[in-house]
Amino acid sequence: MAKPIYNITPFTLLDYPDKTACILWFAGCNMRCLYCYNPDIVEGKGRYSYEDAITFIRKRKYLLDGVVLSGGECTLHKQLPAFCRQLKDEGMLIKIDTNGTNPDLILDLQTDGLVDYIALDYKAPAAKHASITQSSLYARFESFLKILLKSNIPFEIRTTVHTDLLNEEDLQEMIAFLEKEGFAGKLFIQHFVNDSRTIGQLRNIAGKIDPGKFASGGIEMVFRN
Ligand code: SF4
Repeated sequence: MAKPIYNITPFTLLDYPDKTACILWFAGCNMRCLYCYNPDIVEGKGRYSYEDAITFIRKRKYLLDGVVLSGGECTLHKQLPAFCRQLKDEGMLIKIDTNGTNPDLILDLQTDGLVDYIALDYKAPAAKHASITQSSLYARFESFLKILLKSNIPFEIRTTVHTDLLNEEDLQEMIAFLEKEGFAGKLFIQHFVNDSRTIGQLRNIAGKIDPGKFASGGIEMVFRN
């Protein structure tokens, strides 16, 4: 079997809310977002097996509350549920970072108690989703969101803003959509980081979205940079 994991970040205090964790970066993705900072992970091959990851976690678990499954897109990997069960056997909490294109897998993980927290990317409103992600997966994102809203899994939503790709009207539309769907959690909005190596040929952003223009009764918006 091809090795699924591109890299391991041994320790983070930033990527799992209020927990210590390591990050497993899964190789491959079904999107090619123009602003993606991880072209090597998206287009590269895995270097670590599930066994390698479990061996690593057994040695370090005295330091770790949980494991972040990131990527790339970790939910593309068919063995993920079995791996999550192994992580649970090691006593780990599990956070999944996802672009929201595999709702069936999340349903299975939820049913089996194999996911504790989700960070869901909301890339763009429907009309721009395909051009920004170079995929046609918006409908799956919508299904994923609806499943999460009905579930009891804690989750956050994240949007990256490159001002050539998303403008303030787009962001207003996205917030209105989330409100309509009944989302009342945290929406993290992060601006594109200039001078990054990305999948698309993007120029640096000159301006930023003005946080003062955004308000929502139900959603807690957090501008990260
Ligand atoms: S930013 Fe897009 S292309 Fe990059 S890993 Fe996430 S979903 Fe895949």
